[in-house]
Amino acid sequence: MTPRQRIVAGNWKMNTSYVEGRNLAKEIADRMQPTDTKVILAPPFIHLNNVGNIIRDLAGLYLGAQNCHWAESGAYTGEISARMLASIEVQYVIIGHSERREYFHETDEQLAAKVNAALAYNIQPIFCCGEKLDMRQAGQHEAIVEAQLRQGLFHLSGQDFKKVIIAYEPVWAIGTGVNATPQQAQDMHAFIRHIIAGQYGQAIADTTTILYGGSCNPSNARDLFRQPDVDGGLIGGASLKADDFLAVVNSF
Ligand code: PEP
Repeated sequence: MTPRQRIVAGNWKMNTSYVEGRNLAKEIADRMQPTDTKVILAPPFIHLNNVGNIIRDLAGLYLGAQNCHWAESGAYTGEISARMLASIEVQYVIIGHSERREYFHETDEQLAAKVNAALAYNIQPIFCCGEKLDMRQAGQHEAIVEAQLRQGLFHLSGQDFKKVIIAYEPVWAIGTGVNATPQQAQDMHAFIRHIIAGQYGQAIADTTTILYGGSCNPSNARDLFRQPDVDGGLIGGASLKADDFLAVVNSF
């Protein structure tokens, strides 16, 4: 089987002042050991240019945004476009995080348009999917994740789909301290890969990076990352301390 790219991405969410963010990025950059894992920092917008300057030319470190708009420019007060992100060399963008879906009512249709906007500027989407607790309890977790993938991503050509990273993030595990068990993560990742194979063929499915997100930290990352279909993590809380984040990076 073709080896897949391993990735650990830190989603800082709406945390850190300018100085705190600069210090965090510097500490990660200074202390990161050589690794085959791609490490993506996704700070708030105000940090992107500066963090980009801190990590530029450092092997293994990449810059990600937490969101982008679907339009290229225009009257969308407060929004940031993929074109703007590309102009400061942002390489990845998180799209469809459950907090965006829930608090900002982002629809599947909007997320599909955001994916297109990112790809048009050569920015790789980190596309989030995941079920809420009641859906899992009702046995609907696979159906909802499949619907999110179909509606947000499966309009893409195979060529474009290959640029997408998927993050499976069960909503009940995000920020709660209750992570999915390694087996729950593995089962869903294998299911996602199976759905991708049905749409795009086994070769593309086998090379798609699928990250786990949801209370992943230094004490559980090793067991999660050991699962055959778990290719890394999207890390929230544990990405805000260099010690914790680097320990997660070193968990493979
Ligand atoms: C996230 O927000 O993407 C996330 C995984 O958060 P946490 O690690 O804090 O659960």
